[in-house]
Amino acid sequence: MTLLIINSLIETLIAWAHHTVNFWWGCTMVSAECQGCYVEEAMTKKHLNFNVVRLTSPAQWDKPYRLNHSAAQLGKCGLVFTCSYSDFFHKAADRCRSKAWQIIRECTNLVWIILTKRPERINECLPDDWGNGYPNVWLGTTVGVKDSYPRLDHLRAIPCALRIISIEPLLQSLDDIDLTGFSWLLVGGMSGPTWEQNRMEIRWAAELYEKSRAYPNLAYFYKQSSAYRSECGIDGLGRYLNMLDDDGTFALIREVPPTPIPMLPLSINKGHRFTDEQWKRYHTTNSSTNGSESAFSPESLVQIQDASQEVAK
Ligand code: SF4
Repeated sequence: MTLLIINSLIETLIAWAHHTVNFWWGCTMVSAECQGCYVEEAMTKKHLNFNVVRLTSPAQWDKPYRLNHSAAQLGKCGLVFTCSYSDFFHKAADRCRSKAWQIIRECTNLVWIILTKRPERINECLPDDWGNGYPNVWLGTTVGVKDSYPRLDHLRAIPCALRIISIEPLLQSLDDIDLTGFSWLLVGGMSGPTWEQNRMEIRWAAELYEKSRAYPNLAYFYKQSSAYRSECGIDGLGRYLNMLDDDGTFALIREVPPTPIPMLPLSINKGHRFTDEQWKRYHTTNSSTNGSESAFSPESLVQIQDASQEVAK
């Protein structure tokens, strides 16, 4: 029975969360990190206008209560990627957000991870009783290029339980980034149709890892290398740094910050590792060639389509 409940809470393919909840979907692009957005890809395949933000079904809005109940039964919490098919702080959702906040507030056995590319809007969108932040809400912003650094200051100005920098996709070296005030770094290369033109150099991820070690309370999560599919080359940083796990495999550098109540088990091994041949191609190929394409190209965006089925329900 316990195993069944846990399995029902680990449905997302994203390794740093147990689940996704989407109150609305659709979005508009705001910066370089939006290139190749999987939401656009998924909605276009359904002949939906990606730029129209629309509410999801009542089933999606009920889903958090079910997840919360299951986690509470075990005395645990689950990590929820909130609005993975939109931006929680998109202006077009302003009229609907108060109901979403209510659900978030009530579901205290869920840790709501809210990542936005619009942190300048957070302050005007917070609920009246926000105070120093709901203990079960972690706010994050995306920075994949230096031009996005101002987002970090916007988020630093917001009181909250925990701040995240989502460095996905990492599109250039961020060697001078200021990590002060943040507790979790999510780092990864681009996936989707434009990954080849936007390949992440692993040394950029390594720079961030080395930098993060100067902050004792900063967890680092290497999500993936660049590939058509997401969650591929998950051992890329371990290979680059030549770090091994106890079993002799290249390390997955996937740290998670402490949660307010104990967390359900997270499938930290989720994803595809490089073979030695694939790694050689990735590591020795520069971005103007397609040397690593064969590493992962047989797979397409099937998993993205699958996830969008659920959002659309
Ligand atoms: S903010 Fe996120 S969901 Fe919106 S267009 Fe950019 S990448 Fe896509």
